[in-house]
Amino acid sequence: MTASIIDGKAVAASVRARVGEAAKALTAAHGAAPALAVVLVGEDPASKVYVRNKVEQTEAAGMRSLEHKLPTDTTEEAVVDLVARLNADPEVDGILVQLPLPKHISSDRVIAAIHPDKDVDGLTEASAGRLVLGQPGLRPCTPAGCVILAEETLGDLSGKHCVVVGRSILVGKPAALLFLEKNCTITIAHSRTADLAAVCQTADILVAAVGRPEMLTREHVKPGACVIDVGINRVPAPEKGEGKTKLVGDVDFASASEVAGSITPVPGGVGPMTIAGLLRNTLLAACHRRGWDVPEGV
Ligand code: NDP
Repeated sequence: MTASIIDGKAVAASVRARVGEAAKALTAAHGAAPALAVVLVGEDPASKVYVRNKVEQTEAAGMRSLEHKLPTDTTEEAVVDLVARLNADPEVDGILVQLPLPKHISSDRVIAAIHPDKDVDGLTEASAGRLVLGQPGLRPCTPAGCVILAEETLGDLSGKHCVVVGRSILVGKPAALLFLEKNCTITIAHSRTADLAAVCQTADILVAAVGRPEMLTREHVKPGACVIDVGINRVPAPEKGEGKTKLVGDVDFASASEVAGSITPVPGGVGPMTIAGLLRNTLLAACHRRGWDVPEGV
């Protein structure tokens, strides 16, 4: 069997298009576009690229982007103060603090300062609590993207067995809870799991969020399973030339795709869903905060 490739770029583009249409309709109806404040501290090159992409895609979706670029030596106090001002600013619907922050700043403290109603990354304790309690709230973007990709591929997920490998707060735990919300039976595997391959073999949906290049192989995949690879690992690629690198996932794509029914590539799978989820959360945050009805189809 050769797995069908789940096209994350295309699914993300359609989420962004739906958000864009909704943002246009809301702006026309209420005279104000949803606004995302992005906070970047320091000069980390990867973070700058991520922020630029987020800003461009926010504006392309018809929303406002408010950039706050601060120098590397900004104090923790100053970042927390900025977040407090953004919390209080009625023009701001969502706040995104680009991680990682410089070492002298506690990202836990800065994230804790974000008002949960503006927490478009879904990282605050309140957002995590709402997810566990099954209350409405802003869900973390990458795990939410995994669910959308699985639903696009399999339709109704009810009753499917989803094995999530990884239990981080950023990805594994929220992913498992989001699949549970979709009425999946869930198993969370981690570094202490006994006989990982046997556990993974029981998965209708296998979510890999391990951070180890190509660790899950065909031995971990049940024939026909839907494989969602969250991993992003940069590894040497001598075949491309000396000193060259490439991105690979946590799944060995070549061998797993011989067994799986469907599989996300890296890059072009889960990755593009993260920004799409951020835009969607910004729109949802604006609707919730401003008392607007959420447009259908978002
Ligand atoms: P973490 O390092 O925080 O967590 C990794 C998890 O994998 C841990 O729970 C760990 O278990 C588990 N693990 C490690 N080794 C093994 C093993 N040998 N067998 C079974 N489980 C193991 O990583 P993240 O959750 O933050 O990220 C996971 C991956 O997703 C990374 O590749 C990251 O780059 C990528 N990522 C991609 C995003 C995207 O936009 N697509 C966004 C965020 C992350 P234990 O808890 O027992 O140590």
